[in-house]
Amino acid sequence: MLNLTGKNALVTGIANNRSIAWGIAQQLHKAGANLGITYLPDERGKMEKKVAELVEPLNPSLFLPCNVQNDEQIQSTFETIRNQWGKLDILIHCLAFASKDDLSGDFSQTSRSGFNTALEISTYSLVQLSGAAKPLMTEGGSIVTLTYLGGVRAIPNYNVMGVAKAGLEMSVRYLAAELGPQNIRVNAISAGPIRTLASSAVGGILDMIHHVEEVAPLRRTVTQLEVGNTAAFLCSDLSSGITGQVLYVDAGYEIMGM
Ligand code: NAD
Repeated sequence: MLNLTGKNALVTGIANNRSIAWGIAQQLHKAGANLGITYLPDERGKMEKKVAELVEPLNPSLFLPCNVQNDEQIQSTFETIRNQWGKLDILIHCLAFASKDDLSGDFSQTSRSGFNTALEISTYSLVQLSGAAKPLMTEGGSIVTLTYLGGVRAIPNYNVMGVAKAGLEMSVRYLAAELGPQNIRVNAISAGPIRTLASSAVGGILDMIHHVEEVAPLRRTVTQLEVGNTAAFLCSDLSSGITGQVLYVDAGYEIMGM
């Protein structure tokens, strides 16, 4: 039985009801996990209000601002977890960013600052959040991040984000090797293309989705809730022997040679 009762789970990356993190949060809640939700704060507080309204039915016991470019916010997030929960069991890293300019056209024209920003937010943040989570995962734990096929194959327009995802997948392996002796497992889900705020910035994403619908063995793309189910599995004891892996949740598209 998939049961996350008594588990404290921090979920990052919810922006709206299309977010993959929203699909994951719903499935963790369904499995009984106690949720903490972080959001990316903006100056006018719009994101805070929007995300707070969305997640209210899941009764999160923590709701915190956390911009992964802000060390103080990261520190304060994990201090709050220490003070209010005492321990952390699950960390969902479900965020990424690259400038729209760097998600179409020639990869060779990626700017230094665009490259650094994409890698800092999309890749380094997993390393930093895992480092902050490590001392709080005193009873073992599970860390799950989100990646995409563009991290292992050259997919048109994915460009710098492909480099970021390649780094992310390698970070999963190094983190799994380091944290395994503490019974902390680290895995990635490689999701098929889904229409979200982040994916809408990738040039030609709709064509990619239609291509998957034609070619993938299941003749469709996947939903946020399907990704959420796999995340719940990876966070539960049912996956106790799995770490350092990239699991494809993509209706089988990855196996195809076309
Ligand atoms: P989304 O736009 O709903 O989520 C991206 C999240 O990243 C947002 O909540 C945003 O607030 C957050 N974010 C951006 N910069 C941040 C920062 N500095 N600090 C904290 N949070 C920040 O889009 P999504 O598609 O649900 O993306 C979630 C993850 O899934 C990403 O890692 C993405 O690369 C990955 N992914 C998406 C697809 C897809 O097709 N949508 C496929 C495979 C993997």
